Order: sequence, then structure tokens, then C-alpha cells
Amino acid sequence: MLDRIMGQKKIIIDAGHGGVDVGTSGNGFKEKDLTLLISKYMFDQLKDMGYAVSLVRDTDITLNDEDRMNKILDIYGNSSDVILISNHLDSDEDVAQIIYALRDNNEFANLIYNNLIDTDLNVKEPYQLRLPSDTSKDYYYIHRNSGNIEPIMLQYGNLSDSNFAQGFNNDYMKYADAVVMAINSYLGGNNSKYYIVKSGDTLYSIARKYNLTVDRLKELNNLSSNNLTIGQRLIVEEPNNMVDDYITYIVKSGDTLYSIAKEYGVSVDDIKGLNNLSSNMLSIGKRLIIPFSDISSEDVDYITYVVKKGDNLYNIAKTYGVDVKDIMSFNGLSSNLLSIGQRLKIPNSSNKNSVYIVRKGDTLYSIARDYNTSVADIMNKNNLSSSVLSIGQKLII
Ligand SMILES: [Zn+2]
Repeated sequence: MLDRIMGQKKIIIDAGHGGVDVGTSGNGFKEKDLTLLISKYMFDQLKDMGYAVSLVRDTDITLNDEDRMNKILDIYGNSSDVILISNHLDSDEDVAQIIYALRDNNEFANLIYNNLIDTDLNVKEPYQLRLPSDTSKDYYYIHRNSGNIEPIMLQYGNLSDSNFAQGFNNDYMKYADAVVMAINSYLGGNNSKYYIVKSGDTLYSIARKYNLTVDRLKELNNLSSNNLTIGQRLIVEEPNNMVDDYITYIVKSGDTLYSIAKEYGVSVDDIKGLNNLSSNMLSIGKRLIIPFSDISSEDVDYITYVVKKGDNLYNIAKTYGVDVKDIMSFNGLSSNLLSIGQRLKIPNSSNKNSVYIVRKGDTLYSIARDYNTSVADIMNKNNLSSSVLSIGQKLII
């Protein structure tokens, strides 16, 4: 989507244990089976949402620590663009645990925590765990040996507790949903808020819960009937409203709140308020939400593009039908080097592209027809992975 950093991060889901390594067991359940169950479900959900996601194992195979880690590092490489969820149960603690690596901050772990406490699980606040023999290192190898990847170990509860074990076997999907929604929030690739239909839900009950009308809920989800199926994913909140737009900014070396605020024409207080910051300290790699409203349909002489991984000036120029030298001069660039997250103004004077703001009732098909172009072309230009549009969304045509 225009002006959003999408699809940078990749997701690996690790079903703990497997094969001869049963993990813990209790009440007729084996940890290795339940971790596989919940991991496959998470995988399916994330894949449906358009994320790059992989499973470390999808069958009951044995992986020793080294094999498992080699596999994890192999899937998408040893990169900070990869997040890892390692699913586990245990046999002594009656509380769900979210453990993050010593090298990471607690942002992602907190999102998971905030979603899991909305389920019926008892959840301990996210924490880090150190190796007793060398406290500079993580206790779990999944944190210790995973290089630049951002790993989270999740232990959902105690299999020797019969209520929990039976409950988890029946309801693992709701815990998985909580984690999947946290991943979706963290990656910011899709700002829509989702609800997963549960037994007993009706369109009316869901609409009421999210302050929507039934008609609006149906419209948001392109539903033609009132039938719902359990497990169905519904959009319950629009990605952005019609006036304000937000972008995700990743803090670079040398950035200050003041420099970022100045660059985006907003106040330091706005950024702090939106991001719940209590101090002016920023850490490199931190994701900030920045309010952004400088594109309007009346006054478009340039559009703003946020550089993604793999972009180069040539490809960007080609996508927007402009010259590399125009982009360079428009942005005062002296070299071809781009950094991820960098904002580029793309001159719109060629009239080859225009920005269209989605209105109620629009579909990709109707817009393509009006502009004498194709749905595929619009999806390409705007990096869309689904055909769901939201009112107020800006499309490059
Ligand atoms: Zn385990």
C-alpha cells in the first residue's frame, strides 16, 4: 500500500519438540502434538493474511537443537527482518509465559501479552531469562543462538493441569488468534483490525462489540449474506480514517524526535503521544507511528514513497513512470544510495500516475474500469496483496 512499509518482516513459526522428543506430557496429551497443532493453525492464518511465513516443522519429526536452529537460520537467513514464535507448553507453571531475547526490547512481547490477557489464560508479564553459568547470555538456545532474528518463546500453560490441558486442546485457536493479531499489529503491514468468528457470534453481536452497524460490517468484508462460519476472519476496523493517515517510521542512527518531527511537519508531542513515549530517547530500529496528511486529491504535485527493502532508484522511477534524475533532483540526492524507511518525494508532473482516494462503494474493478487500466496494474503499483479497499485509501493509478 502506498506510504506503508509492507512485507519487510518474515515470520517463522516453530512447533516445539517433535519426533522422539515428546516434550512434556500430561492428561493424555503430548507437548509435541499440541505445539504442532497450534503452530500449523498460526501458519495458516498468517499465510491467509498475506504474510511471508514458514513452519520449522509441519510433521512429527525429530530435530535436535542444532538442526532446529540451522533450519530457522536457513529459512529466511540470519536477519533482523525475521521474527520467530516458538510454541511450547510446560508441566509445572500454571501461567502462560512470554520470553524475549536479551538483545530485544519488549515491544513485540508486550503486544502478545496484551492480546493473551484478553483470553482466559493467566499470563505472566513478558520477561527475559539469563543463563545461570553466563548471565550475559540467554537461557534458552532459541534466543541465544538465533543471531539477528527476533525470537519469542511462548509457553501457554501446564499440561499436568487437566482443565488447562483439555481446554488448550479444544481452544488452542483462540490463543493462536491472539498471537497472530499481535504479529499483525507488530508488523504493521496491515492496519486493519480483525475479529475471528467464534461459536455463537452473529453479525449483530460483532457489530455491536466494535461500534459498527451490521451494514457497515458487511460492507467492510464484502459479505452478501448474514451467514458466518466459525474461524472466519472479519475486518472490524478500517485501516485509516478519511483525514489522517499514518506511516510507520523506523528510527535510524542519528535520528532524534525533533529531527523526525521536523521532517514530517508534526510536533514532537504528537509523536510522543501517538507512540506512548514518556521520554525523548529513541533506539535505532524502533518503530514509530507518524501522523501524515499531506496528500490530498486536490493538491497532488508529488507523492511520498517510503523505501522498502530491495528498492533501488531505478525500480522506483520505473514504477512511477518518472526519471531517476527527476527523483534525485526533487529530493536533493547526490547519490543513488537509498536506506530502508527513507521517504522520497516522487514528482507527479508526468501525469502518468494520479492518486485516487477510495470512496464508498468502490471496488478495484470499478476503479480500473473508470481509469481504463487493469485490476492487476493497480494492485502492482500499490503493492496490494488483497483486493479489499478501505474508504479514504490512496491508490496510485
Ligand atoms: Zn517445550
